[in-house]
Amino acid sequence: MIPPRYVVIGSGIAGLAAAEAMRQRVPGAQITMFSDEPHPFYSRPGLAYLLRGDIPEKQLWIRRPEDLAALRLQRVHALVDTIDFLRREVVLLGGHRFRYNRLLIATGAQAVPPPFLPSPIPGTFKLDSLDDARSLLQSARRGETAIVVGGGITALEIAEGLLARKMNVHYFLRGDRYWSDVLDEVESQIVMGRLIHEGLNLHLNTQVKQLIVAKGQVAGVETQDGAMIPCQLLAAAIGVRPRLELAKKSGLAVDRGIIVNPQMQTSVADVYAAGDVAQIRESDGKLGSLDVLWPTALNQGRLAGENMTGAKRSFVKKTPFNVTQLAGLKVTIIGAVGDGKTKDLVAIARGDSESWRMGVQSWAVSERDDVNRVRLMVGETTIVGALVMGDQTWSQPLQRLISEQVDVTPIREALSKGSASALTRLAQFYQQWEQRQPKRSTIETPRI
Ligand SMILES: Cc1cc2nc3c(=O)[nH]c(=O)nc-3n(C[C@H](O)[C@H](O)[C@H](O)COP(=O)(O)OP(=O)(O)OC[C@H]3O[C@@H](n4cnc5c(N)ncnc54)[C@H](O)[C@@H]3O)c2cc1C
Repeated sequence: MIPPRYVVIGSGIAGLAAAEAMRQRVPGAQITMFSDEPHPFYSRPGLAYLLRGDIPEKQLWIRRPEDLAALRLQRVHALVDTIDFLRREVVLLGGHRFRYNRLLIATGAQAVPPPFLPSPIPGTFKLDSLDDARSLLQSARRGETAIVVGGGITALEIAEGLLARKMNVHYFLRGDRYWSDVLDEVESQIVMGRLIHEGLNLHLNTQVKQLIVAKGQVAGVETQDGAMIPCQLLAAAIGVRPRLELAKKSGLAVDRGIIVNPQMQTSVADVYAAGDVAQIRESDGKLGSLDVLWPTALNQGRLAGENMTGAKRSFVKKTPFNVTQLAGLKVTIIGAVGDGKTKDLVAIARGDSESWRMGVQSWAVSERDDVNRVRLMVGETTIVGALVMGDQTWSQPLQRLISEQVDVTPIREALSKGSASALTRLAQFYQQWEQRQPKRSTIETPRI
């Protein structure tokens, strides 16, 4: 019998997880992976740690050579230009064609170019890939000046990385505080205070009007309010978007991502998509949000690999869970954490000071040197989101309470009173709930 030919486009975590699932289920399959990145499989989230100098490059590799050998993957370093669905062939840049029986598109997402920099010029950077991180590191020179633009995690990771390389870093935020979509006022202030303390030049309400270019190289910026700031390096991270060029050119149905059903199938038979590039249309017809998170890409990739080899499983979206470092503080974000203005949600926050406030729009006021916080978003019967900053004792318990949608009605009243005793009540509730669950040795009971 001729072994099936599975083709994967993209060597990120979604592509790798799919290939591993396929190999496990069909040991004799021929699996070919095309990628325009030549590197071994690496951790993209790890790039921030590399930039800060926390880890050496080799710590990015996520599979051992023996695991890769066992995978028996044919890897081809090439850009796929288009897909000929009628002939079931991928077409490489340069015209080479390659047949598939089943195809996975896992082309990921990449940085949106900022309006003042529609195409890169020497001295300007983004952080999507290992090559980007390497070139940033090569260009980061002690004592020189860098400007970093963007209000989310990646921009901050770049700014901290360049600071760690002893550059003089100017960090531009469009609004009046850091990451206002996710952090509340106090959390933003904590992060910004620490950044300033670390030596970052923070510019609030500041946007680049235009770049100043000298001898074909970035030399500085003019801001919207007329200030001129010279620099030798400029990095921007204002958001990402799925890499859809290939899908669009080939005629697949797309919205903000490639539209797939919950089995990760696209609009074309035997063609699947997974990871940052995919957007799920739920069975009720509604288009889902774009997750652009590592665990989601991994789970979708694995599921696509299983379904391409005959399984019929549907993707079940898990509670979003993200652990990150902001200004040296560990921050865990679980579920829905927004600005607290969502109807029918009670927002509760706790600072180290143990002072609690309650109410949809009012947040705990922490002491000045407070860095340890727990913020809860409580819906009608369940906790729907939480942010844990600093001390992570509450991170796992809250992840469980949120992802398992535990009914907190018995303590909602106590939580909504917003006194310091609310957290004590939550801890008691959690302990009792946990005792009723099957034993899990890794979960710590919070101490308060
Ligand atoms: C700096 C940084 C920090 C991050 N930190 C976190 C974090 O802390 N937590 C978290 O959950 N997520 C984080 N992410 C996001 C996470 O890395 C992504 O969600 C995840 O890597 C997506 O995996 P993927 O396989 O879908 O796509 P990718 O990893 O982007 O892989 C796509 C691959 O396809 C290749 N490709 C694209 N088009 C073509 C083509 N036409 N032909 C051939 N090859 C092609 C690309 O070169 C790439 O190798 C971070 C991302 C970055 C960049």
